[in-house]
Amino acid sequence: MQTVTLVGAGIVNLITALDLVRHGYDVAVYERAPDPRAGADWTAYGCTRGGGDGRMFTLTEADSYHNRSWHADGTSNGLLNQPISDHGWLVAKAGSLTEAERRWADAFHGVPPELAQTYNDDIFAVNREAGELWTALIDAEPALFGADTGYTDGVLRLFTEDDYFRWHVARNERVGATRRVLTPGRIAAGYPALEAACSDGTIAGGIEVVGFTVNVHRFVTRLVDLLEPEVRFHWNTEVARIRWASPGVAAGLELASGDLVSGGHCVLSPGAYGNDLLRGTASYERIQGMLGVWFTVPNVEPRLEHSLKIARKGHRAEETNVTLATAADGEPVLVCGSGYGWTGLRPGNIDLAELDVLYDSLEDTIRRFFPATHAAAHDAGTFTTSRRLCVRPWTASCLGVFERLATTTGGRLIVTGGHNTGGFAQSPAIAEAVRAALEGREHSMHARYAPTR
Ligand SMILES: Cc1cc2nc3c(=O)[nH]c(=O)nc-3n(C[C@H](O)[C@H](O)[C@H](O)COP(=O)(O)OP(=O)(O)OC[C@H]3O[C@@H](n4cnc5c(N)ncnc54)[C@H](O)[C@@H]3O)c2cc1C
Repeated sequence: MQTVTLVGAGIVNLITALDLVRHGYDVAVYERAPDPRAGADWTAYGCTRGGGDGRMFTLTEADSYHNRSWHADGTSNGLLNQPISDHGWLVAKAGSLTEAERRWADAFHGVPPELAQTYNDDIFAVNREAGELWTALIDAEPALFGADTGYTDGVLRLFTEDDYFRWHVARNERVGATRRVLTPGRIAAGYPALEAACSDGTIAGGIEVVGFTVNVHRFVTRLVDLLEPEVRFHWNTEVARIRWASPGVAAGLELASGDLVSGGHCVLSPGAYGNDLLRGTASYERIQGMLGVWFTVPNVEPRLEHSLKIARKGHRAEETNVTLATAADGEPVLVCGSGYGWTGLRPGNIDLAELDVLYDSLEDTIRRFFPATHAAAHDAGTFTTSRRLCVRPWTASCLGVFERLATTTGGRLIVTGGHNTGGFAQSPAIAEAVRAALEGREHSMHARYAPTR
């Protein structure tokens, strides 16, 4: 039996762990954060278990976001250099950016439109593969997709702008995502919770698309339950560095305690929280942080019965995911996540005033789309008590990272990460690409997400 040591227990590596044990590998996982079932303070966790308890799969989930960084004439608008309050994505503290961070921003701004389109096609090809694998997983592992993990089929996409709506109708048709295109009148009739936002003109149109949502914290709890005891988890255990025998050949992984883990294969997927670990790899400094903010609000009568993705072009919370969920007390709630705030290489480098602008913007979206929910949440103080954030791993190309290196014992050391808004959505495809690499097979992701691309 071949041994694989995984570093990081976010959704990407947990789905990889599942795939590997189901294919006969012996798997151990090292994670700096506490056991996700321990209910530690949310700030102790990475992107998946931090933030709000909702994630979705759609065929257009992770995107090339470069079009946000151009003026109409194709020149750069300096998106990452402008603070959120000035309609940019910069949330890092003023004057704090390092040379490596500035280089990354330049690389992001420098991707020309044709190349961005190629990257986007590649990202959507990964989504397509992941969609097929999710379908297979839902059949193979029904325990992960029951009511207790909040599995909900289908996503309704909503748009506030006619032109943007029409552009997305064409795009979703193109990728085979569309189930039904809806006018505001049809939305109001089929979704009573959205009646007010349809009648006051907030909603320009909607598209019911292929996809699903889960309550990802519950999903991860269930997944770890399923993996134990076959997978050996080492919680609260930081891997300090890769010990290199020679450039590109690892002797093992050195724990913060000084112990060395060696032999077999290694898969590092540290999200936006592990740049130091990647020193000596081509992925080093390529994965940077892009935070998003969350509120969890009551799902008041008439209740929303479907998860949503709301697009408000030009708004600071321009894309908001709304996931159906149930609170600990059994009451139905809506988990709302939104916004982009670039932190650079340090996920904790956050200007709190800029962060407040994002929270205000998300609250504004909730007010516009769910006035009754907003009033109830406001009265209950929910906009204070349910504030959360988490930091997505992102790359300047918007492609993920897939790097293959060697170990001194003939194994592979693999780095995965940087899947921007699609780490959950793409995770089964990443797992497949990892297993292919361990078995010496090629997978399209190996070239698509090569870190030096
Ligand atoms: C508002 C918002 C909405 C989103 N919605 C969606 C969505 O609908 N669909 C979707 O697909 N994605 C979505 N995402 C993105 C998604 O959440 C991320 O892509 C995903 O959670 C990243 O998972 P990960 O496993 O790569 O990283 P993480 O979850 O961050 O896991 C990495 C882990 O590695 C650990 N680690 C790091 N360094 C070390 C070390 N040296 N030693 C040991 N452990 C280490 C960290 O503690 C961390 O737990 C959203 C993100 C945000 C912010």
